[in-house]
Amino acid sequence: MADKVLVTGGAGYIGSHACKALAAAGYIPLTYDNLWTGWREAVKFGPFEEGDLHDRARLDAVFAEHKPVAVMHFAALSQVGEAMREPGKYWRGNVCASLTLIEAAVAAGCLDFVFSSTCATYGDHDGVVLDENTPQTPLNSYGASKRAIEDMLRDFGAAHGLRSVVFRYFNVAGADPEAEVGEFHQPETHLIPLILDAIDGKRPALTVFGTDYPTADGTCIRDYVHVMDLVDAHVLGLNWLRKTRPAPGIEVFCLGTGSGFSVREVIEHARRTTNREVPVNDGPRREGDAVQLVSGSRRAGEVLGWQAERSTLPQMIGDAWRWHQSGGYGG
Ligand code: UDP
Repeated sequence: MADKVLVTGGAGYIGSHACKALAAAGYIPLTYDNLWTGWREAVKFGPFEEGDLHDRARLDAVFAEHKPVAVMHFAALSQVGEAMREPGKYWRGNVCASLTLIEAAVAAGCLDFVFSSTCATYGDHDGVVLDENTPQTPLNSYGASKRAIEDMLRDFGAAHGLRSVVFRYFNVAGADPEAEVGEFHQPETHLIPLILDAIDGKRPALTVFGTDYPTADGTCIRDYVHVMDLVDAHVLGLNWLRKTRPAPGIEVFCLGTGSGFSVREVIEHARRTTNREVPVNDGPRREGDAVQLVSGSRRAGEVLGWQAERSTLPQMIGDAWRWHQSGGYGG
């Protein structure tokens, strides 16, 4: 019988792709999700337990029944704008929920943990390419809540022997090339799916948030990573944790391509990849947007053997477009 991995947020965008990658790697992904932002139809590669991370009794029952060998923790609130307006929601929904999960995992003796953190824990660093040693000075309660969870994992390592791999990354894009799962948020706020919506008329146009930034074309620069590359890193991290048994505590890996693309460049690639025009309006800056966010991934390459193999814009947009045309979930 294959080993089970408890995947929180397994019905969401990244979590559902992680389940596919785990199944391909010989694990049974057990999705634990409250379906607030996830989709029942996205759970395709293993069993599903509907439940909330605040519900300790439910978590204890799931650990007892399934005996997972590890946890992969994706479930989170992740909208920066909302985090600025409602910090309490983020501290409770991310930090308190993760504390309950971590305590349940430790109580069940499930001591291997893979955590999906974020480069938003860094804050603004004036366009430097980030790495694991860049100081963490988050600008909003989304980033702060994720940093707090990293701290919790470190403390539970020291006290209870929990071993954690922590991944920090920025813009995840693309979809499963076989279009079994993909990105489907309601409401959608991310650039590439919004561009695809504008292309096929689901919304009138894409608004470019700010055209007067100090970049070559005046728009913000981001580091885009293909979701399949990202979840491959999570599986590599899990296998590394189980094989090398590092000292309890956290091992941090940044996942980025080291190069960024402007909003206008992404739009141009979408036009070329889909062979369709993108209706665009220029708009004002969005509150809280940094000019340029790019991360390296040297440590993930050296220690885990990870490489971003599919993270080119044509591939990410092409896979997202194929998925987009298949209609998404909930219909
Ligand atoms: N963006 C934009 N119009 C939109 C959505 C996003 O111009 O309708 C820009 C946004 O300002 C940022 C980039 O696209 O520079 C990526 O934004 P997204 O929300 O996808 O990810 P974020 O970088 O905020 O995590």
